[in-house]
Amino acid sequence: MTRITIALASVCAISLLIGTASSETTLDSTISAGNWLTRGLEEISTERMMADIRELSGPAFSGRQTGTDDDQKSAAFVADRFSALRLHRSTAAPPANQTNPLPQREWKQTLSVIAKTIQPDPLIQIEDHSPLRSGSDFLPILDSPSADINATIVFVGYGISDPAQGIDDYAGLDVRNKIVLFLRGKPEPYKGAVAQADKVRIAKEKGAVAYLTATGPVLSPYELRRGVTGTPTAIYDTSPPLPGAWISTAIAESIVAQAPAGKGRLRDIQEAITRTNTSRSFATEVTARLTWTTTSSTGTLFNIASIIRGYSPRTQDTVIIGAHRDHFGLQGGRLFAGADDNASGTAVMLEVARILASAPAAPKRSILLLSFSGEEQGLLGSRHYVSQPIVPLASTVGMINIDHAGVGNGRLTVGVTGMEKTVASTAGETAGLSDKLDLYGFFPGGDHVPFKEAGVPTVTVVSGGVHPHFHQPTDTADTIDPEILKSVARYVLALAWQLANTP
Ligand SMILES: [Zn+2]
Repeated sequence: MTRITIALASVCAISLLIGTASSETTLDSTISAGNWLTRGLEEISTERMMADIRELSGPAFSGRQTGTDDDQKSAAFVADRFSALRLHRSTAAPPANQTNPLPQREWKQTLSVIAKTIQPDPLIQIEDHSPLRSGSDFLPILDSPSADINATIVFVGYGISDPAQGIDDYAGLDVRNKIVLFLRGKPEPYKGAVAQADKVRIAKEKGAVAYLTATGPVLSPYELRRGVTGTPTAIYDTSPPLPGAWISTAIAESIVAQAPAGKGRLRDIQEAITRTNTSRSFATEVTARLTWTTTSSTGTLFNIASIIRGYSPRTQDTVIIGAHRDHFGLQGGRLFAGADDNASGTAVMLEVARILASAPAAPKRSILLLSFSGEEQGLLGSRHYVSQPIVPLASTVGMINIDHAGVGNGRLTVGVTGMEKTVASTAGETAGLSDKLDLYGFFPGGDHVPFKEAGVPTVTVVSGGVHPHFHQPTDTADTIDPEILKSVARYVLALAWQLANTP
């Protein structure tokens, strides 16, 4: 940059600072927020978002696992992008009458965490079966302890032991020193609540040395809607440590098919359990060998934030735009690139931030941009933020969470809590997306949950339809649809501007 352009840039900055510090009436009369927004929406660049997704899901960040060096590297990437924004207003001293304690520019929040990694070449060998392929045939549970187990497999239905509700998949079976195999979910007639952690706890209590879990061949209506397939996906477990792996439906079927005659096909067994609400458990007498090494290290989780200061001197009211940045990293030697989950949401947030920072005037309320880590490990980063917010939660007028923004059917799933749905639909009209919005209430799962629990109004934005690569190594940048990114970015920009400026 030449001397002259530097001088011009400083003049611009000064005039903007003066503009910022002047009264609300001046701003309201000279700048039409609506007019600017129309232009801002047009300036959204899919090329920039796609470039960010390619970079974040590329080899440089190795899948951005929480608490690893890649967490820190990707945090630095976002922090650099924040500091490159022309957030001229955030460097301005607050007006004399403002008692607003909002932070200046970039800010980071850290938390000590344990990062667990399944080392390359995990092995599952089933008797009379060629070795299973890691990634497509099986995936160790990501925080599974190391395994070196050779034992026979006992099929225990859905793995439920709830005699009070008339179902005990372990009745009359000895699973001590055995590997149990159970289906995911629960049979339709069972009215109790059962989580993966409950099933693992029961297996351990009964004396099993490991577990295998699989999606049943008969999908529930919920699984059909979600586009669930038989492929194993990456998950963490919060139950007591027991080595475990998710195997494909096809492998589970072949284990059951190898069992002594008369037990039937897995599909028929699953249908019988569901139809009669009774257990159909049995020893398969098939031997399996499970071998892998899990390493643990203490590391640091990074949340990164930046703020676009509002002009109103009387309020520290703030709108949050958040997206998680972390994914699973390298597990079992496979890269979980996390392009849709959630390089896409991160890219949308960065692009919306760029456009907001280019607005000719500050919004009335401040806009806090938050890049979370630890989402995949139980919302660690967002929970940490809510426990130590930099803007008081009582002044946080809304939290917009962007997750899975790059794959789907072109529609937007929008979950709204704590505010009228008309707020969300109005933003859809502004963004020209009225016919593409599917509005719901609370959307379970995601970084908005701790905010909702703390009483902050939330809007979650997820691209609609099936996400076929969900939590699989195939979630890569080449599966991202730029038009979907654009819709999400338009929507988030319109909604954030609306929440930040409505009287
Ligand atoms: Zn995820």
